Amino acid sequence: MRLAARLRDDYREAVTSPLSILQRTFGFPSFRGVQEAVVDRVMAGRHSLAVMPTGAGKSLCYQLPALAREGTALVVSPLIALMHDQIRSADAFGIRAASLTSADPEEERQETLARLKRGELDLLYVAPERASTPGFRELAARTPLSLIAVDEAHCVSEWGHDFRPDYRLLRPLLDAFPDVPRLALTATADKATRADILVQLGIPEDGLIVAGFDRPNIRYHVRPRDGVGQQLKALLAEQPGPGIVYVTSRDKAEKLAEQLATPGRRALPYHAGLDPRVRARNQAAFVASEDMVMVATVAFGMGIDKPDVRFVAHAGIPKSVEAYYQETGRAGRDGDPAEAWLFWGAEDFARARSRLESEVPEERRGGERQRLNALAALVETGTCRRALLLRHFGDDAPEHCGNCDNCLSPPTTVDATQTAQKLLSAAFRTEMRFGVQHLTDVLAGRDTEKVRSFGHDRLSVFGIASEEELALVKPVARALMARDALRADAYGGLSFGPGAKSILRGEQRLDLVVQPKRERRRRANREANPEGDPLFDALRACRRDLAAAQGVPPYVIFHDSTLREIAAVKPTSLSALSRVSGVGAAKLEKYGEAFAAVVRGFE
Ligand SMILES: [Zn+2]
Repeated sequence: MRLAARLRDDYREAVTSPLSILQRTFGFPSFRGVQEAVVDRVMAGRHSLAVMPTGAGKSLCYQLPALAREGTALVVSPLIALMHDQIRSADAFGIRAASLTSADPEEERQETLARLKRGELDLLYVAPERASTPGFRELAARTPLSLIAVDEAHCVSEWGHDFRPDYRLLRPLLDAFPDVPRLALTATADKATRADILVQLGIPEDGLIVAGFDRPNIRYHVRPRDGVGQQLKALLAEQPGPGIVYVTSRDKAEKLAEQLATPGRRALPYHAGLDPRVRARNQAAFVASEDMVMVATVAFGMGIDKPDVRFVAHAGIPKSVEAYYQETGRAGRDGDPAEAWLFWGAEDFARARSRLESEVPEERRGGERQRLNALAALVETGTCRRALLLRHFGDDAPEHCGNCDNCLSPPTTVDATQTAQKLLSAAFRTEMRFGVQHLTDVLAGRDTEKVRSFGHDRLSVFGIASEEELALVKPVARALMARDALRADAYGGLSFGPGAKSILRGEQRLDLVVQPKRERRRRANREANPEGDPLFDALRACRRDLAAAQGVPPYVIFHDSTLREIAAVKPTSLSALSRVSGVGAAKLEKYGEAFAAVVRGFE
């Protein structure tokens, strides 16, 4: 080969290599986690399934090969709202992206088709119901394709938690292009679901790439609920940034939002019962906000790709450990420190268990019971919460993570078996229809009117508990209810559940985890952003102005981590700014001068 030709090839190789695109277009110095392995496989033209937790940089795994390979990448994605978010983000990086959905106006659709025909699209987002039609297949056949990505791939499996029949119809499209690499992506898939996705989408077993489930930047806290409005207020007072509070009913969403709102910070409700326009408006406000609190039912979250959510709090137990992981996983997608709080009550478990017995078909009860028990173990454990979560998903885990409540302030464990036995006896002797307050009165030997009127002062359990034991009755009741040894009726009356007998007979211990009164706060670690740094604040204000002018959320312009680096290295020129992580070529051109000017203003 002649020298000039070789140099030209070397040059082409250098500018189209994944690493150079990563640095130039996305502005990142290096790949994170399994990104490189996934990108390499797609670049080699092979089919793959990537299981990556949220926040691991999933979309980059198809965006980057879409730029590096010839042709247009098809991205099958189930949620139109999410597509529009992704197109906006791609746009900011200078990636040419568009969507074909039923929601797009005809004019826009024609424009998209024309751009596709001219080869002017790097990414084409399409909903599964459209992607599976013969008409779309013909369109695809006329288009040079770089890859086909199937996002939220767990929807293809009946084992997954979100099965969508449309996904099953994608196979003919994939098989029509056997040489186009297909990349399935999901954040939540257990073993059975992964195996099923491989089969359904025709991906070889060696194409499975699994990133660990750990979200090391999320700090987990679990607390018994005790006036949850006040608990949340205290939490919000110390916790800056946008956050989500999950509640269990529409009514609670409304009330708590009202209670949590302050003049300096918005708190808005979100639930399926709201007028769709109000719901959309509240969601848009949250996405654009830097400190809003969304008080929501679990209807909120799917399709929200906001990377700077700083905390997720549950005001009641989630449906399962899987749901807990998914919902808390909406915090800290940008990798900055984030918090997950869970406030639980014994009545949560009581309600879930009674629903299980009355509403769940017999054949599914066993599995549902296991789900609840796993959740009870998570809230009750005195050991590392993260370790428990990771093992639940089959990941290896260290004994201590150093970033959960139990690791940071180890609780003490007391043997409360005797107290539990006394409480169970008291419930039994009073014919299992009284609540924990009355049972405490009986055990304490208190002379109340209720005690006297029922003649409970004549029972053998009257006054048998010591002061120390009395202090444990409430947490013991909570623990017994969580593990289904005690059940509460609609009026709070406690009766035996299946776990009661073995504790009464002394065959099973009840160890109680006693949380320290107040967890040591390590505020320095909680907030990655500098406080009271005028340059950083000015950069944020600049970002806010640009975002408002362009009608995009601030994070689409730059993540906080990029602003922090700018505040630290103080680049005054475009070339210096281009070396900051997160500043790619397109963003440098669009926003660089504005931010460099802010820095120069502080010289
Ligand atoms: Zn831990």
